Amino acid sequence: MQADPSAQRALLLIADLDTQTAQLRHRKATLPEHAKLAELAGKRGHLSEQVIASETRLGDAEAEQDRIESDLVPARARRERNQKMIDTGAVDAKALQSMIAETTHLSGRINSLEDTQLEIMQQVEDETAVRDRLIAQRGEVETQMRTLLADRDASGKELDAKIGQLAEQRAGLAQRLPAELVALYEKIAQRAGGTGAAELRARRCTGCGLELDMSELKKHATASPDLVLRCEECGRILVRTEQSGLT
Ligand SMILES: [Zn+2]
Repeated sequence: MQADPSAQRALLLIADLDTQTAQLRHRKATLPEHAKLAELAGKRGHLSEQVIASETRLGDAEAEQDRIESDLVPARARRERNQKMIDTGAVDAKALQSMIAETTHLSGRINSLEDTQLEIMQQVEDETAVRDRLIAQRGEVETQMRTLLADRDASGKELDAKIGQLAEQRAGLAQRLPAELVALYEKIAQRAGGTGAAELRARRCTGCGLELDMSELKKHATASPDLVLRCEECGRILVRTEQSGLT
């Protein structure tokens, strides 16, 4: 392919813009906020699991509380009824003995249930505190995450704006170059992953670092300035400048 030397040199500007763009994209993808956010998301997930476990324990304790209460209500009612009958002498001497025995038994059962009730009340209180603390911790993590997300978005936007500026510059530059040359550049850039042209500087391809051998150098030195050269190693368009070392 033939192209004006100035057009060939302009490819180096495009390559430079492409390198800058790639660096900005890399920076955007590896913002420190990403890693920190992932870490916090893990922490939040773990806390959520703990909240669920605590709520399950709390639910169990509350169910136990209800169960005890529903056992206590009839026991207390029966004891009260018995006590009233005993107090008013509504039962005969024979039935009185067994009624007193039953009432004593009921009192023992009620006491035991009330003891358990107190224990469960304490459990509910403790577990509620545990759950509330976990929810507060999760809230703190979420606050940190919101701050980080805002930081990340702001940094991302800033980088996007710079990338946009570079893209505009690049488009303006490419527009003024022969379409065929730009198309070749793009094809190589895609294959090489990054840039499609490199300077031949001090007898080296600055794209891949290969040093050209003598025969290659001789060939390039005598080639027409319009001829588009290619690096044998990486395939990039090799652009000659005053620093190329060709004599
Ligand atoms: Zn090369």
